Amino acid sequence: MKVGIPRGLMYYKYFPFWKTLLEDLQNQVVVSPKTDAKVLKDGVESCVDDICVAVKIFFGHVLALKNQVDYIMVPRLVSVEKGESQTFTCPKFIALPDMIRHNFTELPSLLEFTVDLQNRPLWMSVFKLCSNFSRNPMRIWNAYRHALESQKKYEKLLRYGFSPDEAVERLEVPEEEAKLESEKLRKKSDLCIAVLSHPYLIYDEFLSQNLQGTLRKMNARMLVPAMLEADIIKAELACYDELSWSYEKDLVGAGSHFLKSKEVDGIIFLICFACGPDSITTEIILREVREQCDNPIMPLVIDEHTGTVGMHTRVEAFVDMVRRQKSHRTRIVGGL
Ligand code: SF4
Repeated sequence: MKVGIPRGLMYYKYFPFWKTLLEDLQNQVVVSPKTDAKVLKDGVESCVDDICVAVKIFFGHVLALKNQVDYIMVPRLVSVEKGESQTFTCPKFIALPDMIRHNFTELPSLLEFTVDLQNRPLWMSVFKLCSNFSRNPMRIWNAYRHALESQKKYEKLLRYGFSPDEAVERLEVPEEEAKLESEKLRKKSDLCIAVLSHPYLIYDEFLSQNLQGTLRKMNARMLVPAMLEADIIKAELACYDELSWSYEKDLVGAGSHFLKSKEVDGIIFLICFACGPDSITTEIILREVREQCDNPIMPLVIDEHTGTVGMHTRVEAFVDMVRRQKSHRTRIVGGL
C-alpha cells in the first residue's frame, strides 16, 4: 500500500517512528512535498479562518497527497505522557482526523493513529494501526521495536543540533560520525541563539522563512527545546504551577532553561498567531519566567501573512544586537 504522511504538525517530531513502522509492514511511505505558497494557499482555502496557520498548512499537505496514495495517515494525539496528573495535547491534535474528515469529501482512506497514553500503552495503539496491514502479531511487534529504535536515534540526532531533515538523512550514519559533524558545525559559530517554539513552526522552512539557515549564515548556532534532555526540562518545571498541555510544558521548561543559561546569548520566541495554548504559555514565559532572568528575548508572531523581508530584518537586527552586547560584555570582563 502507498501510505501518505502529511509534512506538517507532529511529522517533525515522530516521522522516523511512523515511517519505520509502516515500511517494515511492506508499505511505501510517501511524504508530501515541502511547504510552498500553493500548499499554504490550499490549506488556507480549505480550513476555517480562525485556526492557527500550522493546522492550515497541515490541511494543504493533506491535499497535496490526495491523488497519490491509498491511505493518508493522520495522528490523533490525545495524551503523550503518562503521569500522576492528567495532561493532554492541544485540542487541534486531538480532533485532527475529525477536522480532516469533515472538511474534505474525496480523500483516500484516512489511517487514524490514536495515541492516548493516559488510557492505553503505545503498543496497543500500534497494534490497532498495524492490523490494517498485517495479522501477524510477531511481525507487528518487531516493526514496533524497530520503529522505537529509529525514533530514539532520531531524537539523539536532534539533540546534536541537526534539523529533522538532516537527522532523517543521518539515521544510517554511525553515531560517532554524526557527533563529530555536529561538533564541527558548533565550532563554526560564535553565538548561540535559542529558538523557543514548536518544531512544526521552527523547521517548516516556508513558515519560519528558513530561520535555521538565516542563523547559520550569521554564524549563530540554533538551540531548540528538542536539544535539551528531558531531565533538564523536568527540573525547570518544578518551579512553576502545573500545566495541562504536554508540549506547552516543554516550552515553559525549555524557556526557563534558555533564559538562565550562560551558553545562550539570546532567545527568539516564535509564536503562532491564533494558537490557544501558546496564548497562555507566552504570558507565563514573558511575565513569570522572564522576570528572574537576564538573557534577551524577542517574541516573533507568525501567521500566513508573515513576509520574508520583515522576518529576516527582525532576526538579523536581533542577532546583531546580541552580538554587539556580547562583545561589549566580553570587553568589560576583560577590562576588569
Ligand atoms: S499548539 Fe497552537 S500552533 Fe500548535 S496546533 Fe495547537 S493551536 Fe496550532
